Amino acid sequence: MRIILFGPPGAGKGTQARRLERNRGLEQIATGDIIRTAMKNETPVGLEAKSYVEKGELVPDEVVRKLAENAIAERGLDDFILDGYPRTTQQAEWLTEFEEKNEAPIHACISLQVPDDVIVDRLSKRRVHRQTGTTYHLDHNPPPEDVDADMIIQRDDDRPATVRNRLNVYREETQPLEDYYEGRGLLVRVDGTGDIKDVYQRINGVLDDLA
Ligand code: AMP
Repeated sequence: MRIILFGPPGAGKGTQARRLERNRGLEQIATGDIIRTAMKNETPVGLEAKSYVEKGELVPDEVVRKLAENAIAERGLDDFILDGYPRTTQQAEWLTEFEEKNEAPIHACISLQVPDDVIVDRLSKRRVHRQTGTTYHLDHNPPPEDVDADMIIQRDDDRPATVRNRLNVYREETQPLEDYYEGRGLLVRVDGTGDIKDVYQRINGVLDDLA
């Protein structure tokens, strides 16, 4: 099954994609994670992406297209979840071309619906494990006590000024893709508020209906 998990930053795409990977054998392809790894390793792509990510801007389409298409090709075309791709109309059009060329159509675009005040709370209280990338929320899902506190950090782009920019960029450049996928008959809106487990059950139900 080929799925797009869609929604604003902080909607829970990464958290839910990792659960779907564990429980349903769908490979998570997260362009944000790929970009962060490239930045950490200071590869040419990482160095190019850095200034955009730090400001909360989108990395240029051509750069992300290559990363996403290579990642899909590596993991196989049959079972994947795209987490954070596509994010612009150009990326969506390229993905449609890719689906046609490879006869690998997307089955659904699941859009997590979360109001802005919940997003700001989630991102400002989000913490990440430096090595594993596991995410936590200081109130709802705090890091366990046996995890070394020095390994728990805040992503630079989760700081308030950058969060505001990321939300603006989402509204202007990414949210219009809901119409694109609605037009293709693929859009399913899912309530992204509440407990991680409850959101997971909602998504799982949608996938069961598709299977
Ligand atoms: P994320 O972890 O998905 O929130 O992504 C972190 C950052 O990586 C974003 O704020 C962008 O700067 C960049 N990024 C990730 N995915 C994309 C994409 N599909 N297009 C452009 N930039 C992206």
